[in-house]
Amino acid sequence: MKKVIIVGAGISGLSLAYRLQAIFPDGVITVLERLGRPGGTIWTHRQDGFSVELGPNGFLDNKPSTLALSHDLGLERQLIPASDAARRFRYLCLQNRLVPLPGGLIDFIQSDLLSWRGKVNLLCERFRRPRSHAKDETVDAFVRRRAGREAAELLADALVTGIYAGDPSRLSMTACFPRLVEWEKIYGSVSKGLSVTSRQRRADSSSRGERRGSMWSFADGLRLLVETLADRLKLRPVYGVCIRQVFWSRPQGLWAVRGDGQEVWYGDVVVLACPAYQQAALLADFDTELANEIGAIAYNRLAVVALGFRRDDVPHHLNGFGYIIPQRARTEVLGVQWCSSIYPRRAPGGMVLLRAMCGGWNRPEVAGWEDDRLLQAVRAQLHDALGIVAAPVFHHIVRWDRAIPQYLLGHRERVARVERRLQKYPGLFLAGNAYHGVALNDCTERASVLAADIARYLKNSGHRSPK
Ligand SMILES: Cc1cc2nc3c(=O)[nH]c(=O)nc-3n(C[C@H](O)[C@H](O)[C@H](O)COP(=O)(O)OP(=O)(O)OC[C@H]3O[C@@H](n4cnc5c(N)ncnc54)[C@H](O)[C@@H]3O)c2cc1C
Repeated sequence: MKKVIIVGAGISGLSLAYRLQAIFPDGVITVLERLGRPGGTIWTHRQDGFSVELGPNGFLDNKPSTLALSHDLGLERQLIPASDAARRFRYLCLQNRLVPLPGGLIDFIQSDLLSWRGKVNLLCERFRRPRSHAKDETVDAFVRRRAGREAAELLADALVTGIYAGDPSRLSMTACFPRLVEWEKIYGSVSKGLSVTSRQRRADSSSRGERRGSMWSFADGLRLLVETLADRLKLRPVYGVCIRQVFWSRPQGLWAVRGDGQEVWYGDVVVLACPAYQQAALLADFDTELANEIGAIAYNRLAVVALGFRRDDVPHHLNGFGYIIPQRARTEVLGVQWCSSIYPRRAPGGMVLLRAMCGGWNRPEVAGWEDDRLLQAVRAQLHDALGIVAAPVFHHIVRWDRAIPQYLLGHRERVARVERRLQKYPGLFLAGNAYHGVALNDCTERASVLAADIARYLKNSGHRSPK
């Protein structure tokens, strides 16, 4: 029997283990996890009738991998799409005024978000020549080049804040938004690519009688996905084990990982599915150059502040997904999700649940503020934007010291260097959200690719030692 050790029981490690056991049933797969539960950044905290997501709020159906995983796990009946209102209405908070975020180009032109010059620039995107070379550029530079300064300041900022809570002038366009770069290459313009693919998607969904373009979760929260995955593994994950080192054991002719104590786990394959900074620490003694490359992948810092209010105490309609505050305002709060408007059963009857994202790349210190100061800042923001004066009836705060990896300029080249270096070590694999996409879909999609690679490796390899 071949042994596989996976370090980290986040969605990357769990979905990899689940996919691998299906295609390589002869393997013994052990998942080792530092925490006492599965899921990593995915967890639903339940208290006083509120269900608070500590990390992601859902996953999109623009890629099929997480929906497919949910179906394979038999969870289709618990799946719920975001409400219609959440799908249709998102807002920007500009000087404490909520302005609907336009859903398309025409809406943008009709809105008063851009000056006439900004609108002309945006319309001209379709006719601007595509770039002839493939050199990486920042998100801000890309949008500025294609659609002008105003669109960059508004659109690039909103796009990046909503997904990465990062800095558009430092993030890599090819690593963060590869599809838009492809559209420029294939169709000559992003807006043309957008209209062609939206048309295709609409036709595909209506031929299958499906509604697409939604965010999804489960009736009782995302926790169900990671708990079910952990339950379905032939070997339950081992919790409460913090791995400190990975090495090649010459006497055994196997890869090995060592935890805090003296316990060592051996495997024909070891997969590091923990965050990049942890992977770097585990590899530091083994290959400093590789560890340095991986350790250079940056993370932002976030605090998630969930607040429950009596519905009657909230004067705003809360009809939608929530709002983003452009980061050039450099406020403590990056945005607020109206959780109980997005999915049902997130708050008890007569209550609403809101979730504020605080800190981020430009204001990391905010995530370290004490609870009282954070609550005060969020309440002040909710007062200004939504008119809420009353005190919350419930709150829950979670701090992510290293929350979301930031794919800075040159990220793809770094990943290529890491992958080249890894070729020296057959049987050692890297997984997780630090390399090929941060969304749940990216993690689950990547897990399937990796499972196939590992199964192929196990089937074909006798024993190979590091070069
Ligand atoms: C606040 C927030 C909101 C987000 N919102 C969304 C969203 O709405 N939609 C979306 O698609 N994505 C979202 N994301 C991104 C998404 O949640 C993550 O990219 C994804 O969950 C990462 O999964 P992972 O398994 O790669 O890493 P993790 O979830 O970080 O899992 C890694 C696991 O490794 C364990 N570990 C670490 N070190 C060790 C060690 N030494 N030994 C053993 N175990 C170890 C950790 O405890 C953890 O369980 C959000 C992320 C955050 C933080």
